Amino acid sequence: MAGRMLIEPDLKFIKDVGIVGGEDVKKCYQCATCSVVCPISPDNKPFPRKEMIATSWGLKDKVLKSADPWLCHNCGDCSTRCPRQAKPADVLAAIRTQAIVEYSRPRWLAEAVNDPKKLPILTAIPVFLFLVVGTLTGLLNFRPDLSGGIAHYKFFSTWLVDMHFVPAAIFAVAVFALGLKRFVADIHQNALEEGKTDKQTVEVAGFLQALVRVIPTILKHNKFSECTENKERAVAHLLTFFSFVGLFIVTSVVFVVLYSSYLLPTGPLHGPWSQLNPIKWLANLSGIALIVGTTMMIRARLNKPDQKSAYKDWFLVYLAFALGVTGMGAQLTRIAGWAEVSFAVYFLHLIAIWFLIAYLPFTKLAHLVYRTVAMAYAEYAGRKFTP
Ligand code: SF4
Ligand code: SF4
Repeated sequence: MAGRMLIEPDLKFIKDVGIVGGEDVKKCYQCATCSVVCPISPDNKPFPRKEMIATSWGLKDKVLKSADPWLCHNCGDCSTRCPRQAKPADVLAAIRTQAIVEYSRPRWLAEAVNDPKKLPILTAIPVFLFLVVGTLTGLLNFRPDLSGGIAHYKFFSTWLVDMHFVPAAIFAVAVFALGLKRFVADIHQNALEEGKTDKQTVEVAGFLQALVRVIPTILKHNKFSECTENKERAVAHLLTFFSFVGLFIVTSVVFVVLYSSYLLPTGPLHGPWSQLNPIKWLANLSGIALIVGTTMMIRARLNKPDQKSAYKDWFLVYLAFALGVTGMGAQLTRIAGWAEVSFAVYFLHLIAIWFLIAYLPFTKLAHLVYRTVAMAYAEYAGRKFTP
């Protein structure tokens, strides 16, 4: 006689998945069309059908502690072919959002970032910090001396900027590190229980080798070319992805040059940098790529009313768009000589950057980190995910 299993549905989990875009999960009648059409689903324990049934039964641990939802790149092919309009792609996206909330601490902050009603208070935090700390330290100067030309550091000292950005970055790294430690332990346990791997432990060396093997796939966005519905998203994603890589390089170089230049007899090398400097080219190219990429993403979402975009999707794409527009806007208004406007736009730009860094582990952008780790684990575990 077959053994019986007691199922304890987590009703809150079903409700939470619905709130962040997976409300159609109950329409699924388990035909498995989605798993068949998914261009990247492995033969052994394919997704997303099994995630649909587990989610509709409220099996939170089974769903959230699995690497499989992270292997999906939301191409939308399964949702288009689902005969019940259960939108499995949206359900997997909602599962990923719930996983980020589950693995991030403090949990209240993770929930707040996904709650539109909390947006004003989340925005007020950096505004309050910048204004109060800037005023108390005297590093925020509303009437700077502009006789040598307009420069943003005269209004908002670079010390004040880094006094906020560095702790925010340390906080984000710590949240990721703690979350990923639990995440890897859980997805490995799940893989063992479901027979997805024969590896008994996660060896660091083997895992790192797997990571190196999947990085080209991530950089080239190979998986996008394997789907048919949202193929155009590959260009938008590539532009946005590489714009962030470019801006990260620029920020790192500027940071190192600025603080090491304090040792020079001539004093610190503040911006603005010459437009002829290659780092400036990279900054401008990355800024343009960010604006174009995020504009394409916004248009793609507006043109696909059948594919739902939850608050978390709009939040991130508009934040990235605001980052690009305020960055370019601050530069162009500075060049135009509009000092007050430029300082105001620069202040908005700083708020957007702080937002992105401090809240990164809780936003959809955290998928960059979780997906990379999940893909590396799938490769390590022999999940036959990487073609
Ligand atoms: S989500 Fe749709 S395609 Fe997938 S099993 Fe359910 S009904 Fe079938
Ligand atoms: S959205 Fe695309 S990658 Fe994800 S499960 Fe559906 S078909 Fe597969």
